[in-house]
Amino acid sequence: MSLKRLVGKTAIVTASTDGIGFAIAQRLAREGAKVIVSSRKAANVEEATRKLTQEGLEAKGLVCHVAKQEDRRKLFEEAKKLGGLDILVSNAAVNPEVGGVLDCSENAWDKIFETNLKASYLLAKEALPLLKESKAGRIIFVSSIAAFQPFNLLGAYSVSKTALLGLTKAAAVQLAQENITVNSVCPGVIETRFSAAITQEGPAREVSLSQIPMGRFGVPDDVSGSVAFLASDDGSYVTGENLVISGGMPSRL
Ligand code: NAP
Repeated sequence: MSLKRLVGKTAIVTASTDGIGFAIAQRLAREGAKVIVSSRKAANVEEATRKLTQEGLEAKGLVCHVAKQEDRRKLFEEAKKLGGLDILVSNAAVNPEVGGVLDCSENAWDKIFETNLKASYLLAKEALPLLKESKAGRIIFVSSIAAFQPFNLLGAYSVSKTALLGLTKAAAVQLAQENITVNSVCPGVIETRFSAAITQEGPAREVSLSQIPMGRFGVPDDVSGSVAFLASDDGSYVTGENLVISGGMPSRL
């Protein structure tokens, strides 16, 4: 990694022990940031932190279920110990039920919105005191291509990701005078555990691939570079944008 745009910065990346979140944490750290990695399971946190520190990167690991206020508080306490916070990447999302939006149970709907939307909102709110002290605060939400064109079988999840686009735009306007940018990245189909039902061998794989003009699924590092750009001084005049990273999969609201 020759780019070192984030030296002196501290970043929190939620849900960063696997998949897209891990790739983002790794990329930010490779560009020089001190990174706080987290997820729900202690063993995953330990393993991800070990991988990063073994590479010579600056990483602290904490258990954080984003829907738990006490866990979120610990992230910010850790950032304070590291000298402050410049970058918040809110990446956690769940999808406990597969089905159309109006088939979703109330219980699943609440879980989806609590983790995917409300926790992102609360993390941004709780990060503000520290981000305001940074010279160039950054909030980056991980939304989805499904925010634009809902996936039939991911109905409620898609709606939660659409709401994140609105949160991005509203918060960006509110924080523009504070020199804090707010953007989202909207990945297409990226090969991770989360998307395995689509990307593994089978009819869903072929149907999905046929909808991607570039003819391949993305990999987590297809997303991490865009996040690093938005987090860096190169992205300093970009705010309120929802950046689609989908190999050409269409994204119209
Ligand atoms: P993934 O590979 O399955 O990784 C999920 C990560 O989230 C794990 O580290 C997991 O660790 C953690 N996690 C799950 N629930 C959590 C919670 N409530 N609080 C904190 N951490 C939690 O998933 P991914 O594909 O990288 O997805 C990451 C983000 O990208 C999500 O927002 C997803 O909606 C979005 N996205 C993914 C795709 C795709 O095709 N993969 C496409 C568009 C958008 P623990 O089990 O230890 O908690």
